Amino acid sequence: MPYAVKLDQEKKVKLSEYSPDDKGKEDKDVSAVMLAKLGAELNELQEWMYAAQTHSVLIVLQGLDTSGKDGTIAHVMASMNPQGCAVSSFKVPTPEEAAHDFLWRIHKQTPGKGLMMIFNRSHYEDVLVTRVHKLVTDDVVKDRYVQIRDFEKLLADNNTIILKFFLHISKDEQKARLEAREQDEQKAWKLSVGDWEERQFWDDYTAAYEDTLGATSSQCAPWYIVPADHKWFRNLAVATALVETLRPYKADWEEALKKLGVERKAELAEVRRTEGTSDSDRKRKTPKHNTSTTHVTS
Ligand code: AMP
Ligand code: MG
Repeated sequence: MPYAVKLDQEKKVKLSEYSPDDKGKEDKDVSAVMLAKLGAELNELQEWMYAAQTHSVLIVLQGLDTSGKDGTIAHVMASMNPQGCAVSSFKVPTPEEAAHDFLWRIHKQTPGKGLMMIFNRSHYEDVLVTRVHKLVTDDVVKDRYVQIRDFEKLLADNNTIILKFFLHISKDEQKARLEAREQDEQKAWKLSVGDWEERQFWDDYTAAYEDTLGATSSQCAPWYIVPADHKWFRNLAVATALVETLRPYKADWEEALKKLGVERKAELAEVRRTEGTSDSDRKRKTPKHNTSTTHVTS
């Protein structure tokens, strides 16, 4: 059962129609069991994808300060094998990054075949924070929507499975979380003057997110609006969307693995067949191309 609302085509979005404190009919204790089960399935799916090397997965996490991007990564992604999964965080662009087009630094971090990449903030900052602070004109933002759609289609056409999560919190919940950071010694390191300043632009961010979600939702790169006031429900919603998206690929990945297995066995049989012949003979008969399963992570 989906808990996040999936947007897979362009449409007008009004965030006030989506409740940030939704928790379905679920109970917090039961959700822990459900999350553990989803985590186990996610781990298995990731393993298949990693081995099959036919697809990659790109997860984009966006949301206002304190919306839970870090928490989502810590809880939902904890079930994955770190060998096949990485996180890229995007901050204010460096001078070198700013001297290039806005997708330059992003494209370099997209996942290779078999790998899963989580974007903690992303290319979407270039149509959100830049718009709110008038660092670019509205025309540039509109052009970027088109460029983002084209970019994501390029990735999807090259077998990247894309999921984009907007972690939707309420203004009251953000205030409570910022205050909690001040009171909790272990959380105070996360405090930033900028967070309170950005909060004053709440309505501008809401408008920017509404336009962005509306203009950049597509079948190949859908947005999910995730109710994020309750952390446990947010985790359940993200994990559910992820498992439901990846599950249908399992049969293909199994098939690809079977094929790989047959090829490997044939190679081994060929090498064994040549045993007893001279080294130079063996070299000549062994396939020249490298078919080892090496994952390139950067
Ligand atoms: P944090 O995620 O809390 O570490 O903060 C990162 C900061 O970098 C946020 O305030 C983002 O809005 C900002 N940021 C990320 N990407 C961009 C960008 N392309 N242009 C301007 N600011 C950005
Ligand atoms: Mg922050």
